[in-house]
Amino acid sequence: MLEERPEYVLIRKLAREFAQKEVRPLAAELDRTERFPTETVEKLFQIGLLGINCPSAYGGQGGDTMAYVLALEEIAKVCAATAVICSVHGGLCMDLLNSYGTEGQKQLWLPRMNRDTLCAFALTEPDAGTDASMLSTTAVRDGAAYTLNGCKTFITNAGHAGLYIILASTDRSRGARGITAFLVPADTPGLSVGKPEEKMGIRGSSTCEVVLENCRVPETAVLGRINGGFRLALSGLDCGRIGIGAQAVGIAQGAIDETIRYVNTRFQFGKPLSRMQNTQFVLASLQTRTDAARLLVWRAAALRDAGRPYGTEAAMAKLFASEIANEVTRACVQLFGGYGYTRSYPVERMMRDAKITELYEGTSEAQKMVISRAMGVR
Ligand SMILES: Cc1cc2nc3c(=O)[nH]c(=O)nc-3n(C[C@H](O)[C@H](O)[C@H](O)COP(=O)(O)OP(=O)(O)OC[C@H]3O[C@@H](n4cnc5c(N)ncnc54)[C@H](O)[C@@H]3O)c2cc1C
Repeated sequence: MLEERPEYVLIRKLAREFAQKEVRPLAAELDRTERFPTETVEKLFQIGLLGINCPSAYGGQGGDTMAYVLALEEIAKVCAATAVICSVHGGLCMDLLNSYGTEGQKQLWLPRMNRDTLCAFALTEPDAGTDASMLSTTAVRDGAAYTLNGCKTFITNAGHAGLYIILASTDRSRGARGITAFLVPADTPGLSVGKPEEKMGIRGSSTCEVVLENCRVPETAVLGRINGGFRLALSGLDCGRIGIGAQAVGIAQGAIDETIRYVNTRFQFGKPLSRMQNTQFVLASLQTRTDAARLLVWRAAALRDAGRPYGTEAAMAKLFASEIANEVTRACVQLFGGYGYTRSYPVERMMRDAKITELYEGTSEAQKMVISRAMGVR
């Protein structure tokens, strides 16, 4: 499939070269120091990798979902933290603006989001996680403006984003049908960012609380329809899940690649580990399962690009790929032996990074709810 489309070959090559040259050398340090890779993000903007799936009319690369997942996998192979920064910005936020923004909003924000402005998506709250409809952040109309009050938690890119897509209740009596999305610039008075969470993995990405205290935005900040924000968020997450699936495949493939390098050179019993049948069979099985996960991700991306329904397939791709990422990284640590448990090699970081793919943008249980509902299981 890839060989047939030269643009896919090209984007994968560009992303691979960038990932190996610019992202890989920093990955261990970002993890150790929990540092956000500002310099890498600047370079990602410069070479257009943060705007792959944005129409060229707004300064993007005009690529499709498939091109986006191919690039994301290459980055995730070497640094899952950098990959999630790209995935929230491109797969979730940019896609929402492109799908739901007015022409004026697109003209205002998309060129910046291709140039220098990172975006964050703020749905989750302390008491509204899997059941996101229970959010308590409010947006009260006040003439031609809205005043937002509330607290968002676990927000990726917070503190580094120039724009936040914030979901707030505009009619509490209507529950999920009373939620609206707002475009809130980071410098809006009343918006503040809390201290970063200390995480198990993807430690180079920023995850913070976002507090809204009498944060006033004009009515032109409404993204999509008033009270249509919950559906908007769910559709953004459908696309976002393809990206998390690609991130998980990248983590798995990265761990396999590192392991092949290691087992070919580590000698025990007078021969490389790679000559032992256990090593060969385990790696063959891991690669086969990773390829299966990749094909699920590609299926969801291809459906989306064909303009066909893809929400269930995106949930399946994320569910399976995230399980595979965890299984593969655990098995790779085992193949490394004691060295795999140390920071001398990247597989221990990859094993910690893999866990988040089963949690964010909907836990595995949430994906199973989506899939079983689509199967007619009630
Ligand atoms: C590093 C990180 C980055 C994140 N980035 C963002 C972001 O950028 N923007 C954003 O809005 N959010 C973000 N999140 C939030 C993330 O999407 C939520 O953590 C996730 O959706 C789960 O919500 P919760 O943590 O409140 O868990 P809970 O909803 O409290 O769930 C706890 C457990 O109960 C299970 N569970 C809940 N309900 C059911 C049910 N009905 N049936 C079966 N099991 C159920 C869950 O699957 C889970 O295992 C991020 C989280 C993390 C950790």
